[in-house]
Amino acid sequence: MKDYKCPVCDAELILDGDERAGDAVYCSFCNSTIKVYSGKASDDLKLVDDN
Ligand SMILES: [Zn+2]
Repeated sequence: MKDYKCPVCDAELILDGDERAGDAVYCSFCNSTIKVYSGKASDDLKLVDDN
């Protein structure tokens, strides 16, 4: 499991590890919806603010 940071508030997001590109995750700190994109590596995810 990897740790990712919220692109909006920089809080640590704890992901389950089964997120994939196209999923949306929710930041409980700033109430933002974060869209998951695939990163360069296959196991790398990119998080983008979707508000
Ligand atoms: Zn946040």
